[in-house]
Amino acid sequence: MQSMRRPLLIDSHAHLDSPRYAGDREAMLLRAREAGIGAVLSIGIGEGPAEMHQALDICREFNGRPGLPRLYASAGIYPHNTPEADAAALTKLDALLAEPEVIACGEIGLDYYHEGAPREVQRTGLIRQLEIAAARKRPILIHCRGTNESTDAWDDVFLILDEFWGRTGLGGIMHCFGGGWDQARRSLDLGFLVSFAGNLTYPKAQPLRDVAARMPLDGILVETDAPWLAPAPHRGERNEPALVAQTAEVLAGLLKATPDEIAVATTANFLRMFHLKPDVGN
Ligand SMILES: [Zn+2]
Repeated sequence: MQSMRRPLLIDSHAHLDSPRYAGDREAMLLRAREAGIGAVLSIGIGEGPAEMHQALDICREFNGRPGLPRLYASAGIYPHNTPEADAAALTKLDALLAEPEVIACGEIGLDYYHEGAPREVQRTGLIRQLEIAAARKRPILIHCRGTNESTDAWDDVFLILDEFWGRTGLGGIMHCFGGGWDQARRSLDLGFLVSFAGNLTYPKAQPLRDVAARMPLDGILVETDAPWLAPAPHRGERNEPALVAQTAEVLAGLLKATPDEIAVATTANFLRMFHLKPDVGN
């Protein structure tokens, strides 16, 4: 029997340091590789700056073990944690971004929906981190969520990115994208990739699916945002990188592409953004 080698997917956003994986992290990563996931970007925000290094620690613990996806890390201060973005935290972020495995700064951004920190504090915290990421030449991972039915957070994010980020040419990822077409188009214009998560599969997400259906193949990524946002039919369960294939399949249907074409495109996009060699899964 001929073995069929299918192109590998990359989960561009997973919180592998979540305590919800404490009991089975290696088994969870083995399942991911068996499901065709060649690499995972492990998000280094923890529960605040004190835990920003945990994603890097996980990379170093698991990279090189057989049968697992290749792991990369990020580091950043989440919008809710920006009140903790003091000089020590920013120094720690800068040191983490200097590490070769830490390929991105994030997730950073603005969250006016939960408003876990005052908006002005969020904006200042974002700008400080953009300055550090620019100096370290690391693309950024943007979390952006506005108040209901409003583009308030998006409008502020684009104001800040236009002023402080566009000229760096470093680009980034709009993680767990939830905006409209206008926000998607502006993201692409800024050199960003737009990453779709499990919420793309939810019944009420038709407006998001309509946006996804208009995306160019060279502008998309898929992610889990695990342990949150498990795609249908696993909604409500603990999410994990293996399940990113479900989101890729829905995206394939919307873009009238095959799942393999989505895997090829999203993996190429990820590798291009971070200037990585195409060796994932080898
Ligand atoms: Zn996240």
